Amino acid sequence: MVGSDEQQVRYEMPAPMVARIVLDRAAKRNAQGLAMTYQLDAAIRRACEDDAVSVIVLAAEGDHFSAGHDLSMAEVAEPDPRDHATLWGQKDGRGWEAIYSREREIYLGMTERWRNAPKPVVAAVQGSVIAGGLMLAWMADIIVAAEDARFRDNTGSDMGVPGVEFFAHPFELGVRRAKQFLFTGGWLSAQAALSAGMVNEVVPREQLQARALELAQEIARTDRFTLKLIKQSVNAAEDAMGRRQAMDAAFANHQIGHLQNMLLHGFPIDISRLPDSVRKGLEAALAAGRGISSGGQ
Ligand code: ZN
Repeated sequence: MVGSDEQQVRYEMPAPMVARIVLDRAAKRNAQGLAMTYQLDAAIRRACEDDAVSVIVLAAEGDHFSAGHDLSMAEVAEPDPRDHATLWGQKDGRGWEAIYSREREIYLGMTERWRNAPKPVVAAVQGSVIAGGLMLAWMADIIVAAEDARFRDNTGSDMGVPGVEFFAHPFELGVRRAKQFLFTGGWLSAQAALSAGMVNEVVPREQLQARALELAQEIARTDRFTLKLIKQSVNAAEDAMGRRQAMDAAFANHQIGHLQNMLLHGFPIDISRLPDSVRKGLEAALAAGRGISSGGQ
């Protein structure tokens, strides 16, 4: 396994034609490091290749769907290049090549690959969904939120980059809500996310998993190939509205933010405003020559 022998993603078949993929790192609030990233990718690939699966449910153990990218940088083992989502390579390149290539692969490339998985994904989200955690929710086609779900991207307000690497905010929230969300780094409630169209339904916490599964089973009654055609058609409409180009422009700005932080602070993110525990772990990881990411806390 990548970076860790720990199983951080579970794969289940809770009903005919429905696979359930569970982020299983509750002790770390489902922070996404290399192990989770590549285990999740393997699980999605398995579901997509399985003839007995029409719909995928994405859920998370514990009180929080995801606290974002794992800033501890504790994982040092790299995935097998054959498991890479992109051809960017050179994650040990000189200067900015290393970080740019790494973020293209692990964050932008991987999330885009999941967003384009041909089978419908229904996400069930609860508790805090922070920064990189948004990317895990946004890759889904349908989001069912618990009443206690709340969403935040603090990478602008706290870390000096414009937002997470998979910059879908304007498409998920609308332009003005996206700006307020990013300018302030404030929380968006489940109800506000519902009114913005970012989530499909808000349900009591105790009904979250049952409702997501019920919805997945309802979707699975539609022919599998037809579902794929529907998903590609709606995604193509979103792309025709400029999503890909906008995301590439934002990714370039994200890299400028990292470079500015490097010039000002000696780190790709402004760590001065991060909690002590996170900052110390990051400093230690960087001193050991390990990689950097942004997002989460
Ligand atoms: Zn970044």
